[in-house]
Amino acid sequence: MVLGEGPLHAKLMLVGQNPGAEEDKMGRPFVGRAGKFLNKVLAKNGINRKALFVTNLVKHMTPKNRKPLPDEIAACAPYLEAQVNAIKPKIVVLMGAVAWQAPRVEGIEYVETCHPPATMRFTKMRKKFEEDFGGLKELL
Ligand code: URA
Repeated sequence: MVLGEGPLHAKLMLVGQNPGAEEDKMGRPFVGRAGKFLNKVLAKNGINRKALFVTNLVKHMTPKNRKPLPDEIAACAPYLEAQVNAIKPKIVVLMGAVAWQAPRVEGIEYVETCHPPATMRFTKMRKKFEEDFGGLKELL
């Protein structure tokens, strides 16, 4: 299980799909290639990763890193909901179509952006991803 990391009163929470092999090994979210890319985008926009809570909708690695199945998403969604309720961030950024399926908590602003692994490969997505992160600072 990779449950997530960050301060308990983070104003911004980032939610990905599920941990990959590197995350599984380290027990930390977004520490592989996609994490390095994410760190770069955060740094470029003056966002300190240490101030954020970073997690995934699905808390475990999937076989051969396949997309999480609906029952895996359903099993993990209440945990994310509890994390949002405990941390009460101002904004939750859902990264990718799997993360978009996260349950919404009232009073929290949700931003839907692309999934970092795909974003690294496709210029159009990268543009949207960078724009979305560019707009976050003024929302905080
Ligand atoms: N690493 C994660 O922790 N989550 C993702 O969704 C992708 C890479």
